[in-house]
Amino acid sequence: MTTEVRESTDLRDVKMIIGGEQADAADGQTFEVVNPASGEVIATAPLGGAEDVDRAVRAAQAAFEGPWSTWSASKRGRTLQKLSNLVKEHLEELAQLESRNVGKPISTARGEALAVSLVFEYYAGAANKVFGETIPVSRPGLDFTLREPIGVVGLIVPWNFPMNMASWKLGPALAAGNTCILKPASYTPLTAIRLGELALEAGFPPGVVNVVTGPGGSAGAALAAHAGVGKIAFTGETVTGQEILRLAAGNVKKVSLELCGKSPNIVFADADLERFAAESPYAVFDNAGQDCCARSRIFVEASAHDRVVELFTEATKGVVVGDPADEKTQMGTLVSQRQRERVREYIGIGSAEGAELVYGGEPPTGAAFDRGAFLTPTIFDGCRTDMRIVREEIFGPVVAIISFSDEAEAVRLANDTPYGLSGSIWSQDIGKALRVAKGVRAGVLSVNTNSSVHTEAPFGGYKMSGIGRELGMHALDLYTEIKNVFVDLG
Ligand code: NDP
Repeated sequence: MTTEVRESTDLRDVKMIIGGEQADAADGQTFEVVNPASGEVIATAPLGGAEDVDRAVRAAQAAFEGPWSTWSASKRGRTLQKLSNLVKEHLEELAQLESRNVGKPISTARGEALAVSLVFEYYAGAANKVFGETIPVSRPGLDFTLREPIGVVGLIVPWNFPMNMASWKLGPALAAGNTCILKPASYTPLTAIRLGELALEAGFPPGVVNVVTGPGGSAGAALAAHAGVGKIAFTGETVTGQEILRLAAGNVKKVSLELCGKSPNIVFADADLERFAAESPYAVFDNAGQDCCARSRIFVEASAHDRVVELFTEATKGVVVGDPADEKTQMGTLVSQRQRERVREYIGIGSAEGAELVYGGEPPTGAAFDRGAFLTPTIFDGCRTDMRIVREEIFGPVVAIISFSDEAEAVRLANDTPYGLSGSIWSQDIGKALRVAKGVRAGVLSVNTNSSVHTEAPFGGYKMSGIGRELGMHALDLYTEIKNVFVDLG
């Protein structure tokens, strides 16, 4: 592991990567990148727009038709493995960048950088395992399928897990032989640019990985609408996903979407309540609650309600909120003052709706917290599924607790949401846990743990939480076309 860390002065003026070259925005405009823990400007980045997207699409098209198209799948895999190794070598640098840019604890950011390396390693191994079938059709002859890359793909990622969301898309897209244009969120462009640089260093030809920074409404929308782009993979808000579907309709792009969630954490009275309470604060307050999988609705069986609230609140008091750079910190800041204000509005709405504020609700006090977008973990009890704090994705450290009387009601309440991303079920009766897992309409569930994201397993949402499955071998379906060929042997 290298200990080389770019100082903030080195970061002033980061550039886009287009066709293997560093690039400014066509009109020379830039925007400021801020550390949300201090309010300090840590970099400026190009404010790209439609013209820059067009340049990147042309570079990606040229790369798709160039030597890259002759690369064997094994060679793509070996190059992805080099990228995985480079991410590991630069793990500390990437973690520091992410921690300073997102406000997430440095220890968490290190884990996320390692996860990026492991995702690239997984798709390095997967590259030469994408194959077709032979099909016994009714006419005499040979029928077989080919799995081919789509072409130029646009990858639009959010600010909550910037480098992880980039890797979930770059890994399978590159393994399958596409060329990519990555558009990071405007709050958090730094690790995306660094990954683009590392991809070049790993040996991907110029134009295979392009990174365009700039506002979603202009650069992002131009990418989603561009006729030269064959597919958009997007993670972010559901309304943005809906807009992307509309923009992508012009040339009937393939679209995959990872959108909002309002995930249930269902605990039955017969569960190991101590284990539930010890683990579950991190399921909702990790990344300051800015996680589409956050278990932001706790459903507790009525007979265990008081005990669960007591244990969960005690465990939550133990979550260390502090300077993201401090090794002991478990919850850093929100991504921006604006996001904190949005979350505080929801806290006000929860109280006005009649929910009982059990813990938190305010920024922590003390000089150390004055300049950053800090907030204490917040617990509401006595909630109902018609409350806005229970229906809407808050994307902050706020959890709503609701009682249920039996298994059927638990499933009904958990499904009373437009979303269906993830969820957990806690019970020592495995039959009951599995019946509930079958009943919950969500893509990613876990039993007796909140751990539900695995590099090797599919991840994605039901209902308004999205379209398609990332991670695992399923992700390769998002980046390949299937061509059927019939050979008449008559
Ligand atoms: P957005 O959905 O607006 O942003 C996600 C990405 O899409 C960013 O790169 C953004 O660029 C880009 N984008 C925005 N508008 C468009 C557009 N019209 N066409 C193409 N791309 C676009 O989420 P926000 O960052 O604004 O976050 C707002 C809320 O969304 C959060 O508070 C949270 O509730 C939810 N969210 C959910 C996530 C999830 O994983 N479920 C992840 C992130 C946010 P830019 O940053 O430049 O605007």
